[in-house]
Amino acid sequence: MSSLMVSISGVRGVVGETLTPEVVLRWGQAFGTYIKGGRVVVGRDTRVSGEMVKHSVHAGLLSAGCAIIDLGVVTTPTATLMIEELGADGGIVISASHNPIEWNALKFFNADGQYLDAAEGRDLLAIAERGEFRRAKWHQIREVELNGRSSDVHLTKVLGIVDVEAIRARRFRVALDSCNGAGVEITARMLTELGCGLVRIHCTPDGLFPHDPEPSFENLQDLCKLVRAERNVDVAFAQDPDADRLAVVNETGDFIGEEQTLALVADYVLSSQLPAPGSQSRQGTGNGEQGTANRWRPSVVINMSTSRVIEDIAARHGAACERVAVGEVNVARRMRAIGATIGGEGNGGVIDPRVHFGRDSLVGMALILESMAKSGRKLSELVGALPRYHMRKTKAQCPPEKLSAAIAEMRREGQASGARISELDGLRLDWADAWVHVRPSNTEPIVRVIGEADGEKRVEALVGSFVARVRELGGGGTP
Ligand code: MG
Repeated sequence: MSSLMVSISGVRGVVGETLTPEVVLRWGQAFGTYIKGGRVVVGRDTRVSGEMVKHSVHAGLLSAGCAIIDLGVVTTPTATLMIEELGADGGIVISASHNPIEWNALKFFNADGQYLDAAEGRDLLAIAERGEFRRAKWHQIREVELNGRSSDVHLTKVLGIVDVEAIRARRFRVALDSCNGAGVEITARMLTELGCGLVRIHCTPDGLFPHDPEPSFENLQDLCKLVRAERNVDVAFAQDPDADRLAVVNETGDFIGEEQTLALVADYVLSSQLPAPGSQSRQGTGNGEQGTANRWRPSVVINMSTSRVIEDIAARHGAACERVAVGEVNVARRMRAIGATIGGEGNGGVIDPRVHFGRDSLVGMALILESMAKSGRKLSELVGALPRYHMRKTKAQCPPEKLSAAIAEMRREGQASGARISELDGLRLDWADAWVHVRPSNTEPIVRVIGEADGEKRVEALVGSFVARVRELGGGGTP
């Protein structure tokens, strides 16, 4: 039996094994207690188990005296944006994101529509463990309000940041694989608004995933084949089931790679939206640049495992680039703090603060289409103009009790080899031609090893040597 995964960002389990109505109820009660019986936005993806999980969430929240705004089936970015829009006290999204169909999960958000951070997550966990929940009396039980406007609000915001007429004029033909998930309807609506002709595959919102939902090369072969068969498709997009992540396929049916999604968007946004000389920040969001208007420059925030291509793009456009610990909450918080221009994670997660501080596949699509429209270039040409690196992601087992000694040893060896070192999130070593990030998992006795280099052989050798070192120092094998 799989175990229930509890982390600061949520609770994840296999339906009918570890994710039972009792478990969900407890977390609903805990979250309702944590936000002191406030107003909570609840949304879910299309998973078959979603309705069952939702009723337990509702019962837990209502029993703690919460009012519920039920958005029904929506994307994660739609739900998180609505938390802020409606002035709610928090939100729960019922989605196991890119995990296979047997999984489901609760993801917890604060009043800003951001994932709970480490401190907030610990507070919630402590309440769940103590099991002392708020209990509303009969006259304190509040209502479940249905809200069917959330997709309209989300679409208005996304379409508000692009030149809709310029995109419409190009009459792009777009292929779409929404993995039968929450993105199906809202994405088709957006692309139609943008004047695109649609070629759809796996766009029945029944939650029966036609392939492993992780938007990777192996899982998107149907989409690549469709583009090749159709011949006149300009670009193809794929989403995970809750539609925060975006993968792209070019006009010849070649998978672009999730790392390139943010690269394409960042390159376009930074090149097109530099402020006029002497002007202030284009957004006015954040307060990081107060008093420094004359010296303001655009900035990008990414995580420790995101491709170096973003750093190169930032440098090309005179923008600052900051790296933070892995996790949307870390990227979003830093973006807010410094008034960043654009940011996200290398797994296809694009964050544009003009819409919301959360990863949003619709934002990524709209900006890529605008980039194609304004430049008049094919997607393959836009990708071809980006710097190219080779990345390798893998994992190795390491018992938790041996972890810190292993990291310390690898740090010492890295220092001896002249690497620049960061210990903000596990261990990251940077050399002139390569980097490697060794990152312990929060939920399993493994470390992830991610590396990138100019050449394929170099990255294979580098990542291979670190995996071997983790195994030696941890005394374990490969998972
Ligand atoms: Mg997701």
